[in-house]
Amino acid sequence: MTYRAPLADIGSALKHAAALRPAIEQGLFGEVGIDDVEAIVAEAGRFAGEVLAPLNRIGDTFGTRFEDGNVTTAPGWKEAYRAWRLGGWNAVTAPPEWGGQGLPQIVNAACTEMWHAASVAFANGPMLTMAAIDALNAHGSEALKRAYLNKLVSGEWMGTMQLTEPQAGSDVGALRTRAERAGDGSYRITGQKIFITFGEHDFTENIIHFVLARLPDAPPGTRGISLFLVPKFLLQADGSLGPRNDVRAHSVEHKLGIHGSPTCTMVFGDAGGATGFLVGEENAGMSCMFTMMNRARLAVGLQGVGIAECATQKALAYARERRQGRTASIDPSQSAPIISHPDVRRMLLTMRALTQAARAVCYATALAIDHGERGSDEKMRSQSHAHASLLTPMAKAFSTDVANEVTSLGIQVHGGMGYIEETGAAQLFRDARIAAIYEGTNGIQAIDLVTRKLPLDDGAIVNAHLNELRGIVRMLAADNDPGFGWTAVRLRDAVESLARATTWLIGQLSKQPEAALAGATPYLRLFGVASGGCLLAKQALSMKRLGEDAAAALATARFFAEQVAITAGGLEHTVVEGAAGVIGADAALTVA
Ligand SMILES: Cc1cc2nc3c(=O)[nH]c(=O)nc-3n(C[C@H](O)[C@H](O)[C@H](O)COP(=O)(O)OP(=O)(O)OC[C@H]3O[C@@H](n4cnc5c(N)ncnc54)[C@H](O)[C@@H]3O)c2cc1C
Repeated sequence: MTYRAPLADIGSALKHAAALRPAIEQGLFGEVGIDDVEAIVAEAGRFAGEVLAPLNRIGDTFGTRFEDGNVTTAPGWKEAYRAWRLGGWNAVTAPPEWGGQGLPQIVNAACTEMWHAASVAFANGPMLTMAAIDALNAHGSEALKRAYLNKLVSGEWMGTMQLTEPQAGSDVGALRTRAERAGDGSYRITGQKIFITFGEHDFTENIIHFVLARLPDAPPGTRGISLFLVPKFLLQADGSLGPRNDVRAHSVEHKLGIHGSPTCTMVFGDAGGATGFLVGEENAGMSCMFTMMNRARLAVGLQGVGIAECATQKALAYARERRQGRTASIDPSQSAPIISHPDVRRMLLTMRALTQAARAVCYATALAIDHGERGSDEKMRSQSHAHASLLTPMAKAFSTDVANEVTSLGIQVHGGMGYIEETGAAQLFRDARIAAIYEGTNGIQAIDLVTRKLPLDDGAIVNAHLNELRGIVRMLAADNDPGFGWTAVRLRDAVESLARATTWLIGQLSKQPEAALAGATPYLRLFGVASGGCLLAKQALSMKRLGEDAAAALATARFFAEQVAITAGGLEHTVVEGAAGVIGADAALTVA
């Protein structure tokens, strides 16, 4: 089966878990109403299911071809990009003055999930273009915006994001690509970048590279990095394409998954230096790049949700058809569909519950970004912005870990057929793997959460988040519906485990930072489990209160609380008591 956009689940998560409805009622999005949101999401889902999903397997088997510096994408991909462009999909959240629709981030979040569910390898390129639009709009000069923004928003040109070099991966401050002042206001860029997504391709004539580089007199580390816009083709005075710039793709990588997405090594300055234009101030490139990365981090979290949703759909369909063994509930003269075996049900429910929790977490993050951008007063905007900063590393890392777990379970549900490529379960498993690595590895996200985000506003931001979760637990306890089983108890315990681990980690940051770093990854999981569990319960409660059919939402929230959130206590102990065993474990890591 191919991917089908889960519009009902997405609609419920938007309205009830992420509280889109109250935001619309408060007038956060001006004239935009629920009907508008539903119409856009349905159309994006149709595009994902009808145009992108059928191309995903072709991209996997064909990959990309590299010849004489040119990249050819898989059959049908270029045409699909043309359809993407004509559909105006880059423009959803882009500023209206540059041809965008200025719609909320939360609307784009739902669309992004579906595009990635249909084909991560395809959607990766436009995702980075959208992130580039944000960065250029926020930090570029008027002249740069006038020259490039309309064409990026319309999709006539695409953008790339270029940080990584052989010696500079997680440690961006180690990058060596050089930028020299040319004397005419532009710069000459020389150096090499690796692993650049859609660094070269046949979708668009011009490609606009956003490149981090270092000036000769720059201070060391991340304080000495500047961001440059480096077009593949320079522009004439009238904006038309001029000569080829001194930048080229040297090769494309052969990789585990996302075969349809060209991952390029880029060379700048074969002929003396590529012409680049400064975005923002000299040596302030990291903060400009953070605009781009934060956008891309949430989008990669949504990749995780999309892939997990697709894997769950496939596994459910297979489990209904495949018959093996006997079960008490089925006529003993016939073999039973495997979905009737309790262990298979457990796997399927785990897939569904993890996916929906990750979706709720990502949509809540997108809504926090919207509040930060559009809130009615400065105080509210600044608090929401800080809340979004707190949630973003969790949205990225929790959701992409979920994608890895869910796609692995997807193979397990298929048994041996899952290991055989023709079911597509194996491709999802391979495609999901990178999401935990790029846009900052999940380990780096966890460190960001613990060392930079917990201390925000002296802990007030994380405490406000904890209080929000406690409020959901109180509503749940008051609801007293026996259908929720142990949900209220399990979530109360999870939130209090998160609160204790948070206090302990904040204390360690000044006393023993190594201990805080050792606990960062299990802490991020604990954060995701407690937050995701509460948001699922909130969704079920809100649907019940409004008289909607809440049976599936309630069952999913209950399963998550009883089977997943219950791990929170163990994670708390891992964070608080396990650090010494990590720091002092040299003997176990010594090569014999
Ligand atoms: C398919 C693909 C597409 C990509 N697309 C792009 C792109 O478009 N643009 C771009 O700029 N880059 C891109 N990348 C690069 C990607 O962002 C990096 O691979 C990633 O940031 C990790 O860097 P690294 O590979 O050098 O790993 P390393 O930094 O060497 O990390 C190795 C391991 O060590 C851990 N580690 C490293 N430092 C620390 C630390 N300080 N504390 C704790 N743990 C640490 C990491 O978490 C990881 O587990 C892409 C990579 C791939 C494979």
